[in-house]
Order: sequence, then C-alpha cells, then structure tokens
Amino acid sequence: MAYRYLFGPVPSRRLGISLGIDLVPHKTCALNCVYCECGKTTNLTCERREYVPTDRVIAELDDYLATAPDLDYVTFAGSGEPTLHTGIGEIIAFLKDRYPRYRVAVLTNGVLLTDPEVRAALMQADLVVPSLDAVSEEAFLKINRPCPGLIAVQVLKGLLDFVQEYTGEVWLEVFIVPGINDTEDEIQLLKDAVAVIKPDRVQVNTLDRPGTEDWVRPASPAAIERIASTLGGNAGAIGAAYAGRTLPPESKDIGETILATIRRRPCTPRDLATLLGIRPTEVAKYLRVLEAEGLIKPLEEKRGVFYRAA
Ligand code: SF4
Repeated sequence: MAYRYLFGPVPSRRLGISLGIDLVPHKTCALNCVYCECGKTTNLTCERREYVPTDRVIAELDDYLATAPDLDYVTFAGSGEPTLHTGIGEIIAFLKDRYPRYRVAVLTNGVLLTDPEVRAALMQADLVVPSLDAVSEEAFLKINRPCPGLIAVQVLKGLLDFVQEYTGEVWLEVFIVPGINDTEDEIQLLKDAVAVIKPDRVQVNTLDRPGTEDWVRPASPAAIERIASTLGGNAGAIGAAYAGRTLPPESKDIGETILATIRRRPCTPRDLATLLGIRPTEVAKYLRVLEAEGLIKPLEEKRGVFYRAA
C-alpha cells in the first residue's frame, strides 16, 4: 500500500524512532509562527474539519502496524496543526484499541485546547507536547501570529483545563525568539505559567535551522541554559543533535526517509548522517539524486548548507 498520510519512521531528537501521521495539507495551521521550520502558513485557520479522510488514515495505520515494526512512538505531527482534524480522537482510539503496544504522541501548538472536544480527543494519547512561547498578548501576536479570534490568555486557560483532565505525560515546549520572549517580564510570565501547568518536562528550544522569517536569530546556548534554569519544572534545552538510537536496518528506505525528514524540517547533510546512522558520503549520494529530481533544494545558512523540500 502506498502511504499518503504516514511518513517515516523517522528518527526524532526527542521521541526516538517515530512513525509520523500528517492529518492536514501543507501548510494548514491556526498559527503562523515566525520560526516555523515548515514554512509560512498558507491556510491560517481555526476551523476544525476532516481535512483528510479519517478511514483512509486508519487503513494506512492498520496496514503498516500489522507488520509489527519496532517503533518508540506513533506521532501526530507533520506540516501543520493535527488537532484541526476532527478525526484525531477516533484515530487515537483506534491505535490504543488495536495496537496498544505503541505509545502515541501528539505534537500540538495547543491553541485549540480551549475547545472541550479537542481536549477530549487527546485524552487517550500517552504523550502530549504542547507549545507555549508567549503568555503576553503582545509576544503571542509577534511570535505566533495567530488566526483572528485567538487570545493569549484564553489559550493558556485551555492548556490549564487540559492538564487538569489529562493523565498522560505533558512535555511543554517553549521556543525562544531573542528580542521578543527572552525579556525578564516575558520569562517571569512563562515561569508563572509553568508553575501552574506543572508539565512533566519543559523543553526550551531555539532556531536551529531555517525558519519562516529571515530576521529570527537563535538564542545563545548560555541564554537557553539561563532561561531553562529560571523556568524550573524540569526545564532543559532541546539538543541540536539527535542522540537516540538509529533506524533499524530493515526499516531503512534511505532515500524515502531523507525526503520525509526534509519535508518536515530543513536538515544539513551532517544532521541526516547522524539521524540515520550512516556515513556523510552516503547521505551526499542520496541528496544528489533528490536534488537532480527537483524534490529538494539547498539553502546556504550560517550553520552550513541546509536542504529543504522544493
Ligand atoms: S511552528 Fe507549529 S504552530 Fe507554529 S506555524 Fe509551524 S506548524 Fe503551526
């Protein structure tokens, strides 16, 4: 079966070997974050609907997981916001019912957690990773550029309501954009929010690869460490390099995996070599073919040449 809505498995910095599920077309999101690695949001919306057929996603999962692949997570992620899809709860319920051995993770911007239906849909997931980059309205507008109608204080309230009802793990992600949410006031607001949300982990992130806006700069490692220690709540930096296990050899369709990874975030050849556990010269071979086929293109950045989906 050819898979349209599944990608990978890809090695993830945080989740190990992860099979991705992409529930919305590129690039459908309720936010248009200045740092987004998937590029500018072209469909900025808060409308929940069945963006791709739920039964088709379930059929693909059933087909793939019936082979009992060795995975750490099945993850809702990809090129937009997965909770915009009205079938996400049904898909999670299917996974937990038919394939309970797999942990299910949802990477979300968290802004739709104001909706009780979205909160209910995520209850069976094992791990939810919501973002919270800004507590003040001003920073929320500048960094996340939300869909009209989203208000920072209501988004925080939705997240609080969710964590009170949810019994799985919560890893809160905070993305630092220097000059906007790294001021003393903003960090204090975030620290207060962390104290009430009480996530299992706080992951402090910053720009590591090309974002949507050229003016966004990474925070220094020292600044990230300082912010992480101020935030408390088990906060730590998200490492730039993948440090988990590499893909088992039987699941390596290397060209496909490289393309699936690059489609979701730009990567350097070195990133890909580390992710895949193969030599840089071998990665270079695949990159040449993908570039010649017009599927990827190089982009010169400070940290080296990144490849992005064409
Ligand atoms: S970073 Fe996430 S929430 Fe922000 S625009 Fe990109 S996909 Fe949407």
